[in-house]
Amino acid sequence: MPEVIIVGGGMVGLSLSLMLAKAKIKVKLLEAIKYPAETNQTLLEYHSSFDARNSALSRRSIGIYQQLGLWSLLQQHATPILEVQITEQGSFGHATLRAQEEHVESFGQVIENAWLGRVLLQEVRRSEYIELLDAIEVITLTQDQSRVQVTAIQADQSMTFDAPLVIAADGRDSKCRQLLGVGASHHDYEQVALVTTVQTSKPHQHIGFERFSPIGPLALLPLPGDYRRSVVWPVKKGEAEQWLGEENDDHFLAALQHAYGDRAGRFEKTAPRFCYPLSQVLADKQAVGRVVLMGNAAHTLHPVAGQGFNLCLRDADVLVRYLTSHLQQHEDIGTPSVLLAYEKSRLKDQQRVIRFCDSVVKGFSNHHPILKLARNVGLLAFDRIPGIKPLVANYAMGLKA
Ligand SMILES: Cc1cc2nc3c(=O)[nH]c(=O)nc-3n(C[C@H](O)[C@H](O)[C@H](O)COP(=O)(O)OP(=O)(O)OC[C@H]3O[C@@H](n4cnc5c(N)ncnc54)[C@H](O)[C@@H]3O)c2cc1C
Repeated sequence: MPEVIIVGGGMVGLSLSLMLAKAKIKVKLLEAIKYPAETNQTLLEYHSSFDARNSALSRRSIGIYQQLGLWSLLQQHATPILEVQITEQGSFGHATLRAQEEHVESFGQVIENAWLGRVLLQEVRRSEYIELLDAIEVITLTQDQSRVQVTAIQADQSMTFDAPLVIAADGRDSKCRQLLGVGASHHDYEQVALVTTVQTSKPHQHIGFERFSPIGPLALLPLPGDYRRSVVWPVKKGEAEQWLGEENDDHFLAALQHAYGDRAGRFEKTAPRFCYPLSQVLADKQAVGRVVLMGNAAHTLHPVAGQGFNLCLRDADVLVRYLTSHLQQHEDIGTPSVLLAYEKSRLKDQQRVIRFCDSVVKGFSNHHPILKLARNVGLLAFDRIPGIKPLVANYAMGLKA
């Protein structure tokens, strides 16, 4: 019998199931899509663990994967960020953060999601503590005083499972959140993130760029291979279409070049572009009886600062600590008061990250000349005021939680 049912095997569900397995807790993991076979490298569109995205992992997240014994494998497709440069197109303000000056090895590492997904899935399949069922969709969820019941459909067959604890990691539009009757606040940024990988004529030297352009805040992060960079470019809805499709490769490269200038040299090649609609979705509650909402189901953020998944991993890490320490003294892993205590303990970190991401998006999307001047002065001050950079750097690295 599983002690925990996890609904949703995205980046969060897969990672969390491995954390629980490490603590010798039995997990049943239910995932709606059919995962690729182990040898099949085909990328799935719109699945965080296997699609074309790359994720900036904070030092704390790397530490979590080190504890799981996975970092040596993950590292093969990851590259460190040694410097971060923040600029605004057409402005004088700029700021630079250097790992060496902050006395850290790096600010984190950029990993290809497709590789992260493959490694996580492989480990999940190997684990004796995890039973993985894919191509199965959860459709009902009810609970009584001691158990949670879940009904799911697989190939037209209905199945019922139950466990003392259910963790819902079923994404932004969480079905479980709806089934629990938990509301959520939605804010549509009216943007989509244009995501791809490009090759530049200058090596990246492990520098990450955040460039605030009139089209949208453009992030260029180093990838394995000296000349490959990950692009995340949130643009207004309706503007992305002109850059999609192979026939628009040159047009897209020219737009990037224009927004970036020649800091990265020439933008020479691009992979296909994918679009992700951007919104902020925050659940009103995260612990309801014996069910906890995790990952995007609990909080979906704008990717501007690469914080969303890092925050989710910190949540998962803390939840596992709460569960294991409770299990040492009691038998009931789903004790509602423990789940509420977990939720309470996470609010401060979550709210700080949510406010930070939202204010960066809003602060840099207003093109009023006075606000632009204020941003420039702010960036310059940031670059010069002693003591401020270590604070921001620590925060971005996820060291404070
Ligand atoms: C463009 C972009 C770039 C980003 N870059 C970064 C970054 O650099 N760093 C960072 O920290 N974060 C980043 N993020 C955020 C990060 O991608 C998310 O935090 C992460 O994907 C959340 O994963 P999840 O597992 O919670 O949700 P999802 O990836 O949505 O997974 C949910 C899973 O649940 C399954 N599911 C749904 N409903 C059911 C059901 N009824 N039954 C069974 N299964 C179900 C789905 O099939 C899916 O597999 C980025 C996000 C975007 C959009």
